[in-house]
Amino acid sequence: MNFTDTLSANHERARERFRDHTFGAYVDGEDRPSAGGETFRPTDPSVGEPITAVASCDERDVDAAVAAAGEAFAAGWGDLTPPDRADVIGDWVETLYDHVDELALLVALEVGKPLSFARADVENGIEYIEYYANAGVGETGAHVPTGEDTHTYVRREPYGVTGQILPWNYPILLMGWKVGAALAAGNAAVVKPPTPAPLAVIRAVQLSGGVLPDGVLNVVPGSGSAVGEPLVEHDEVRKVSFTGSVPVGQRIMRTAADTVTPVTLELGGKNPFIVFPDADLEAAAETVATGGMYNAGQSCDSATRILVHEDVKAEFLDAYLDRIDDWEPGDPLVDGTTMGPLAYSEHRESVHEYVELGLEEGATLLRGGEPITDDSLAAGCYYPPTVFDDVEPDMRIAREEVFGPVQFLMTFSGYDEAIEIANDVPYGLTAGVATTDQSVAHRAAADVEAGSVWVNQYFGTVPGTPFGGYKQSGIGRECAVQAIEEHTRTKSVSVALDDPPY
Ligand code: NAP
Ligand code: MG
Repeated sequence: MNFTDTLSANHERARERFRDHTFGAYVDGEDRPSAGGETFRPTDPSVGEPITAVASCDERDVDAAVAAAGEAFAAGWGDLTPPDRADVIGDWVETLYDHVDELALLVALEVGKPLSFARADVENGIEYIEYYANAGVGETGAHVPTGEDTHTYVRREPYGVTGQILPWNYPILLMGWKVGAALAAGNAAVVKPPTPAPLAVIRAVQLSGGVLPDGVLNVVPGSGSAVGEPLVEHDEVRKVSFTGSVPVGQRIMRTAADTVTPVTLELGGKNPFIVFPDADLEAAAETVATGGMYNAGQSCDSATRILVHEDVKAEFLDAYLDRIDDWEPGDPLVDGTTMGPLAYSEHRESVHEYVELGLEEGATLLRGGEPITDDSLAAGCYYPPTVFDDVEPDMRIAREEVFGPVQFLMTFSGYDEAIEIANDVPYGLTAGVATTDQSVAHRAAADVEAGSVWVNQYFGTVPGTPFGGYKQSGIGRECAVQAIEEHTRTKSVSVALDDPPY
């Protein structure tokens, strides 16, 4: 058996495990086929084979899910005390932890994510659900001093039915970021999973059966136009939280304007990592390579633009390219693989088009640059770690999100120039800084326009650190109590107090 056959056999066995499982909509506590009876088949990008059938829903299914969510909310989910709600959510968390292996395998199959990273995606997602449930317990209202004749206080109330729209790159993690906050705040949720990778999310929602009250959590798989749009348009959906691309986010915001529905938008990034001349270059090289290549670069917070001081460029580059060579595409189901394929073939085409654009724009290709088609990985959507040098800040490749394993090197000669290049894009999600000078670190952290800045490390988000974008990278914050607050609205209550009757 050659390597290709082994890879296919691995995946065949893994798919077999889910062959008899139903991946329908999950509405009001039950699995349902789509109203139209149609299905679609997401593909395993490692081998180019369909995994299993999934219900392809439409507006009718959205209506049913929104109605179920509305009833569940009215039946008292929003009235539970936060500790009682945390108890119930805690039972779902426990069930999810019992199914980490299964969920991780689904993520590995549908996203092409190496199994150990898929496991991290799942475990971290669950951790956020747990965090929010407990953080919700600590939320308190406020008393407003309005004089002794009036008692004024502020209630925080959930919205009711929320729409939660997810991308494919970290399905369970981002479900945790969004759904965890919505439920902890007392809302019901209708989840729209990503079409390329709906399976793990559907399964995770199914695992809430018999644990969360029916209708509190629903999932409706199907396309952005057939499910996502009706969900945003629906006038019973009072809050929308979306993670995905800027164009779709803009469209959602426009649609939501019709019903004046508030939106949380977590959008794209073109994140800079600045290597100052006093940095520990070996450590920075490792951090930057990981920041760019983790999840094959398919992260909104990927470190894509590497800004290096000209005096240390040569030395940094040596160390960095060594670290890049540690990232080698392979079968996600094999232990030790650090880079899987890209998530689907059109996405690989789009990444490759940017690489061709980089060559046209005159940047220098140092690594990679061609889809992997000539060896055992040919059936999958594999793309090698790719590095461009001599990139200029005004090139399109330096300004647009590529969302693949491609990093772009630029040089600067002084602090101000570094900050100017870092900020000269429409995005502002995350940024990295490498320096041994604490003053430079804190100044840069203040001067960079980004929702998160990581110094001498990368991917620093944990439960409790607000995550979200500046500029076109988004509106709102997740991962912290702000996300719970953004899933509630305040009501100010003023009560006139009579004089004591005795
Ligand atoms: P996308 O194409 O914008 O899709 C995101 C979600 O929106 C999917 O579920 C998609 O459904 C749905 N959708 C598409 N059109 C819609 C419409 N008209 N109305 C309502 N929903 C619609 O993004 P993606 O390709 O899945 O994910 C990659 C993008 O997400 C990148 O730009 C990345 O930077 C961003 N991202 C941001 C963060 C963050 O926290 N800031 C995190 C992760 C990813 P279909 O799948 O059916 O098209
Ligand atoms: Mg898409």
